[in-house]
Amino acid sequence: MSETDVVVIGGGQAGLSSAYHLRSSGLDIALLDANPAPGGAWQHRWPTLRMATVHGIFDLPGMRFAPPSPDEPAADAVPAYFAAFEREFGIDVQRPVAVTAVRNSRDGRLLVESDNGTWTTRALINATGTWTRPFVPYYPGQETFHGRQLHTAHYRGPAEFAGKRVVVVGGGTSAVQLLVEIADVAAATTWVTRRSPVFRDGPFTPDYGREVVAKVEARVRAGLPPGSIASATELSWTPQLLEARERGLLLRRPMFDRIVPDGVRWRDGAAQDVDVILWCTGFRPALDHLAPLRLRGPRGGIVVDGTRVVADPRIHLVGYGPSASTVGANRAGRAAVRELRALLAAPAQV
Ligand code: FAD
Repeated sequence: MSETDVVVIGGGQAGLSSAYHLRSSGLDIALLDANPAPGGAWQHRWPTLRMATVHGIFDLPGMRFAPPSPDEPAADAVPAYFAAFEREFGIDVQRPVAVTAVRNSRDGRLLVESDNGTWTTRALINATGTWTRPFVPYYPGQETFHGRQLHTAHYRGPAEFAGKRVVVVGGGTSAVQLLVEIADVAAATTWVTRRSPVFRDGPFTPDYGREVVAKVEARVRAGLPPGSIASATELSWTPQLLEARERGLLLRRPMFDRIVPDGVRWRDGAAQDVDVILWCTGFRPALDHLAPLRLRGPRGGIVVDGTRVVADPRIHLVGYGPSASTVGANRAGRAAVRELRALLAAPAQV
């Protein structure tokens, strides 16, 4: 068993930003990441997600992300940048190490158990993102469907949908991007969303970004599950989407009520035969390993003030709720480290 001052779980933007700010703190740290290589979730993004089609990747602290070619897959460009960052600042990420549980130990420390060792620590930064928790809502009859169902997280490009009838579920950016690229090869596409999608005419300004973050922040302060920055963000009219609208691809239908062996059915009796249901229905925070600490409040979320868990100030959630974007994760890493430095420097309360 190893002893340390701070364990950081997760080596994506949030974990690396935290590790950067911890370097000069004089604290011992262990940074554990379940992935086999640098890049956090970016190493798993689908190959057709290119730098031209991501929202924008904010620099990690202290190192510029030199703009790659717009055609470069994000799954190559971002992990290469993270790897260079780890080398540049000598950040030692222990990988692959998947944390299975965090518990209170008898001596007032936290016990971090993994598939590759155990640590005891005075404090914890949890930066595990959402990618490993894809969310698929339940619809009656789902288990009877004879076709294929998959989630965004398992999408690898449009080729495998050639000649298929595909229903794409979800009102976010991923849903419309995948809908448009699949439509080029599929026999037919149907787009369904729970609510009418809202498209923004204006550009994605910093003010609008702050507005979105404030919405998510209000939820986590109230102890509600955070929802994602992505789901609070309206769709933007990119040239790709304007063209898709011209081609009639963005005709959205309301959510179906039922899944049957060969397709989907609406309450009014309308029916659509389909071969594939693609669920672009988002992700949930990957926090199962924290369950033994019982941090969730009565409203289903973990109440945080900034990044600090209100129920246990030794624990910070970075990249959670309002900080679940590259810019948010950066700022949150700095804020969490500032608070932990003060906490760990203070004499222990007896
Ligand atoms: P991640 O990058 O997911 O890193 C978390 C790390 O924790 C992973 O390496 C994982 O292996 C590790 N981990 C998880 N569980 C454990 C465990 N139990 N033990 C050990 N390690 C663990 N944001 C933007 O700002 N701009 C964009 O353009 C953008 N595009 C996006 C596109 C898609 C399709 C999606 C899904 C999200 C996008 N986002 C974007 C949001 C984006 O996910 C965040 O901005 C940011 O990359 C998340 O960083 P993170 O460090 O919190 O999480």
